[in-house]
Amino acid sequence: MNQSQQSRQTVLNQIEHACQRVQRDPATVQLLAVSKTHPAERLRDMHEAGQRCFGENYLQEALEKIEALQDLEIEWHFIGHVQRNKTKHLAEKFDWVHGVDRLIIAERLSGQRLASQVPLNICLQVNIDGQDSKDGCQPEQVAELVQQISQLPHIRLRGLMVIPAPDNHAAFTTAQALFDQVKSLHTQPQDWDTLSMGMSADLEAAIAAGSTMVRIGTALFGARDYTT
Ligand SMILES: *Cc1c(COP(=O)(O)O)cnc(C)c1O
Repeated sequence: MNQSQQSRQTVLNQIEHACQRVQRDPATVQLLAVSKTHPAERLRDMHEAGQRCFGENYLQEALEKIEALQDLEIEWHFIGHVQRNKTKHLAEKFDWVHGVDRLIIAERLSGQRLASQVPLNICLQVNIDGQDSKDGCQPEQVAELVQQISQLPHIRLRGLMVIPAPDNHAAFTTAQALFDQVKSLHTQPQDWDTLSMGMSADLEAAIAAGSTMVRIGTALFGARDYTT
């Protein structure tokens, strides 16, 4: 096995063990490979190792990789902060956008998604543990935003995304409860099936709390170098 195959297998085993511990089916947890700062060739290797879903944080960097890897079958997820004036590329080039936290962003993404494309999958980002400097809507806003966003024509609202403070594992349980509450809303969104939470350091805790998509960078690709 080469390095990509090995690290991917290690993470898949970790996911499987985390699932076994809480009697979940490993097939209910998706592995999103977070590839920010890593060159396109590393993604190509990881694709060769069997990985299909990749998450990127920085728009310009992501667009270059999407271009460089257009011969591959890849599902592209944008997991970074969404700037209001950058929604057009997100709407056209990505399959998923995780960091939607305001109605205006969802409206713009819906309006800019091409009619020829399938609807854009989005997650509503929630500031689940009240961090000051964090993106994400407030938990109290979720119900209303869900109702509003569900009505947009070119969007498929799939669930919630959270990034709690490191070691705040209790926040995962809070997120799970909020995710379930939406299921009991009067107008429940049709495809409400995704709870995007858990990173390299806390994927077990996230899976124990009900995560359906873990976003893994370091454990797959090694440490990131932001200097280049
Ligand atoms: C970078 C990043 C990750 C991956 O973090 P690792 O600790 O390297 O696994 C996951 N989610 C988001 C939103 C990120 O920005």
